[in-house]
Amino acid sequence: MPEGPEIHRASDRIRTALEGKKVFNVKIDFQPLAGMEYLFEGEVIEKVEARGKALLIHGPTRVLYAHSQLYGRWMVNSKSRTLPKSNRSLRILFESDTHVVRLFSATDILLLEHHEIELHPYISKLGPDVVLPSTGVMDIQHHITQQRFQRRRLGGLLLDQGFLSGIGNYLRSEILYKANLLPQRTIASLKQEELLRFCEVTKEIVQRAYEHKGITLSQERYTALRNQGLTHGASRHYVFTRAGRTCYECQTLIERHNVSSRRLDLCPFCQV
Ligand SMILES: [Zn+2]
Repeated sequence: MPEGPEIHRASDRIRTALEGKKVFNVKIDFQPLAGMEYLFEGEVIEKVEARGKALLIHGPTRVLYAHSQLYGRWMVNSKSRTLPKSNRSLRILFESDTHVVRLFSATDILLLEHHEIELHPYISKLGPDVVLPSTGVMDIQHHITQQRFQRRRLGGLLLDQGFLSGIGNYLRSEILYKANLLPQRTIASLKQEELLRFCEVTKEIVQRAYEHKGITLSQERYTALRNQGLTHGASRHYVFTRAGRTCYECQTLIERHNVSSRRLDLCPFCQV
């Protein structure tokens, strides 16, 4: 499932393709919205933005809302090249003078009026979006120290989009590892310095994943591993998907756990 950094990168590509441009060709192959192409055809796209794991494309009268969920996939291609084929079912197509933007397989697609965006059940509950430059470490700290989060465990909280938006499974393992915290710790149990480090690490890891295409490992270490012949996939993370291999800090074997029904990898020595 794509997480915040991936959605924001998709949003960046779609913004380049569509924002401020007139769309000439629009297809909506999604039954509840059949025949609504006219709302966008020949119109200028005003704004493209990511909100949590949803993407919003603002037309003059309506906003297309698409949450990718497990299977949705955006493809952005320059018109100067042949469009790559896909076996997935096409849901949405927007064509500007320079690009073709397609969304495949998604099933959570809506048309909203501008004033309905903040009221949408998913968007209205989102916590701060850590990828956004405007979300700082202090904003994160202020939000997560609210009373309603105090007794909850970090392992579950990090997948709750109302806690922090855009964080998913690989980021959860990586943040907890770098913050030296076990998933069963509650917010209330954190000492002041642990809380601050958790907030700093959350910002740092998510920002790095956004800037370096899903790599959470420091660039120096990633480059060193690649030079040793490891694949991109094996060099991306500190702990996630590395169960049975050794921790880069202490050489203890990384363990795989199941927390909130999802995989979580951790170092039983570095994390307390
Ligand atoms: Zn370790």
